[in-house]
Amino acid sequence: MTYKKYLKESNYVSGQWIAADSGKTIDVTNPATGEKIGTVPACGEAETVRAIEAATAAFPAFAAMPLLERVGLLWKLHDAILDNQKSLAELLTVEQGKPLAEAMGEMAIGAAYVRWFAEEVRRAKGEIVPAPGNNRRILVTHHPVGVVGMITPWNFPSSMLARKVGPALAAGCTVVAKPATATPYSGLAWAALCEEVGFPAGVVNIVTGSARAIGGAIMDSPAVRKLTFTGSTEVGKELIRQSADTVKKVSMELGGNAPFLVFDDADVDAAVQGAMVAKFRNAGQTCVCANRFYVQAGVYDTFVEKLIEATAKMKVGDGLADGVEQGPMIDQESVAKVEELVADAVSKGGTVALGGNRHALGQTFYEPTVVTGATQDMRVAKEEIFGPMAPVFRFDSIEDGIAMANDTEFGLCAYAYTREIGQIMRLNEGLEYGMIGINSGLITTVEAPFGGVKESGLGKEGGSQGLDDYLDTKYTAVDY
Ligand code: ADP
Repeated sequence: MTYKKYLKESNYVSGQWIAADSGKTIDVTNPATGEKIGTVPACGEAETVRAIEAATAAFPAFAAMPLLERVGLLWKLHDAILDNQKSLAELLTVEQGKPLAEAMGEMAIGAAYVRWFAEEVRRAKGEIVPAPGNNRRILVTHHPVGVVGMITPWNFPSSMLARKVGPALAAGCTVVAKPATATPYSGLAWAALCEEVGFPAGVVNIVTGSARAIGGAIMDSPAVRKLTFTGSTEVGKELIRQSADTVKKVSMELGGNAPFLVFDDADVDAAVQGAMVAKFRNAGQTCVCANRFYVQAGVYDTFVEKLIEATAKMKVGDGLADGVEQGPMIDQESVAKVEELVADAVSKGGTVALGGNRHALGQTFYEPTVVTGATQDMRVAKEEIFGPMAPVFRFDSIEDGIAMANDTEFGLCAYAYTREIGQIMRLNEGLEYGMIGINSGLITTVEAPFGGVKESGLGKEGGSQGLDDYLDTKYTAVDY
């Protein structure tokens, strides 16, 4: 095991590795074993203010760094991630629980985001717009927004930073980031990597500790011009409110409640294959995880039978063990929520067709679960499950399917399996979601704009739009 190489038990502020002023620390444990991995500093407002000051001081020189030099640092960062992919992936699995193969994938996509934004920034072109009269030029140019605050969750503790740190650094912004307390090491590893490849002191600062204290200092600071947050809708709303006082730009990747529609004409085997990825990746703990399976009446029985068969084969265990497909959940609270949702579904007429219990492995392991006969009055129709439970609903017409799919305040990602082109276009029109996967259960890619509508968020990550969110547009009129 080589994960200790990037296990940093201190914070990174102004190019220094620091402890909390109070000397206090927080324990970090492995969810698969319950064992303590190490500690991180319990920092708060004072350390965060210093991090913001460092980022503010570093900004002018970093923004003015010749573009190719900055891009060169990003190339090195990309290479450093891939050169250390195994160590970083092991660290991620040890603190977060996901199977090592998934952790390796998270590192690969993280590196890919860095490369994508390093490429994209070289084409962040401005415009010269025709003026209404003679003797004037209208220039439209792009400039880094300034210091960016970042707050990230525990489910993708590395790649969520990749798609924030990548475009921020490409644009010439400086960073103050707070990783989730459950999984701080994958966040702190970004500081170690940035230091290693030579980003100047103060460009990237990472602090761990109280969410309220660190978040509060970031939100209160007029120097922080943008906040990018990935996490729950509840906390996102609170941060949007807090952003008002200093009128920060905000990017919000919030909760999802993804519908997964299977139509009568679908290739059911492909739909089941897609369902397994869309549902059980990261033990169901992704914001784009299929939350509700809507299956058209004609293929309902076949789909359910095949889904159960595939789900029953899943290998559950410690993410570091060979061949494991589902690791533990992040904590006891998350397991308790899945238990409640299963009990609620059963009390309203649902049937547990597979699983439905804590796993014999103990800790926070939960059995891969399929519940059939789900209905819109169940909590699973409205709430994000964030666990390995697949509720299956039945629908008749495409209109019913779309209406049920849209019956939620969320609008992040939707999936549908059908081969009929007219139906695909109606889904494109009718589904109120920021992302739609047709005949695919895995659509996240660096080239595409990831992000939701309705209460799932604001802004995009990835694609060319993912860079725009870190740039201000400036208009200059030049009369001559
Ligand atoms: P999740 O369900 O992913 O844990 P949360 O929204 O609770 O979602 O947490 C996402 C991130 O937001 C974490 O880093 C967490 O520490 C942070 N966070 C939680 N509450 C607050 C808050 N009041 N202010 C700032 N950050 C917060």
